[in-house]
Amino acid sequence: MKVLLVFAHPEPRSLNGALRDVAVAELQRQGHEVKVSDLYAQGWKSAVDRADFPGLAPDEQLVTAAASKAAFEAGQLTQDVSDEIDKLRWADVLILQFPLWWFTMPAILKGWVDRVYACGFAYGVGEHSDKRWGDRYGEGNMAGKRAMLIVTTGGWEQHYGARGVNGPINDLLFPIHHGILFYPGFDVLPPFVVHQAGHLDEARFEATAERLRERMRTLATTAPMPYRRQNGGDYLIPSMELRPGLGAPGRTGFALHVREEDSASPR
Ligand code: FAD
Repeated sequence: MKVLLVFAHPEPRSLNGALRDVAVAELQRQGHEVKVSDLYAQGWKSAVDRADFPGLAPDEQLVTAAASKAAFEAGQLTQDVSDEIDKLRWADVLILQFPLWWFTMPAILKGWVDRVYACGFAYGVGEHSDKRWGDRYGEGNMAGKRAMLIVTTGGWEQHYGARGVNGPINDLLFPIHHGILFYPGFDVLPPFVVHQAGHLDEARFEATAERLRERMRTLATTAPMPYRRQNGGDYLIPSMELRPGLGAPGRTGFALHVREEDSASPR
């Protein structure tokens, strides 16, 4: 398989840097082709602004989605963005790796998503009718590809447990899993999470590295998280609400969007 790992940590000698090297080495040992987008090393520009749309006339109002669509269709995206789009098209698997910063991804990685997910490529695709509401949530240009997160947290596993004060880790990651990865069509694998990452002795590092190698060996066979497909009949169109009768009684929030026959699986 072809694997794109997007790495968002400012320090190559960090724990994240060491785990990235472990993942890449294991993937290559398995015969996979690997490309790494090291965002800090690349000097990735995070903010979307007028400079992203060289075709926009100086006096024209910037309407971001429209400008993105026009630039994507005309082949006028900036070189850094179109290089990343080429890598995404090339990849069978996308891995996003980052330390959890303020309960989500670092700004540089969010900026990669904001800029690389062009309109007409990652969103704004497909027809809208009484049967379909665009190609999204399980359909879209990333359909057939797999994706997963490698995440480190300072907090303990219990802090991110079902009753933990930080909120369940799979709830915190839901906007990335469901909103950023499932939305344009990826099959989303359960995340690889390292808790209490501020304190790792050599033994725990080695155990963590081995757990990560195992995840890299099973990249092609791990079952994706069972999100409901938007156009699969579970949602009313155009309200996009889950049909009455679906979802276990009393269930609310993110958990509704996981097929209940598989609800024991993580969100
Ligand atoms: P590093 O600091 O590089 O290393 C951590 C430990 O791993 C050290 O003990 C180090 O000795 C060991 N280590 C590193 N490399 C190796 C190696 N090769 N072999 C053996 N041991 C090694 N945490 C939360 O839980 N929630 C948050 O919302 C949150 N927000 C944050 C916001 C900011 C701005 C920052 C800076 C931190 C935040 N944190 C938060 C903590 C953050 O998630 C952790 O600091 C981070 O995940 C640790 O990963 P790292 O790669 O930076 O680790």
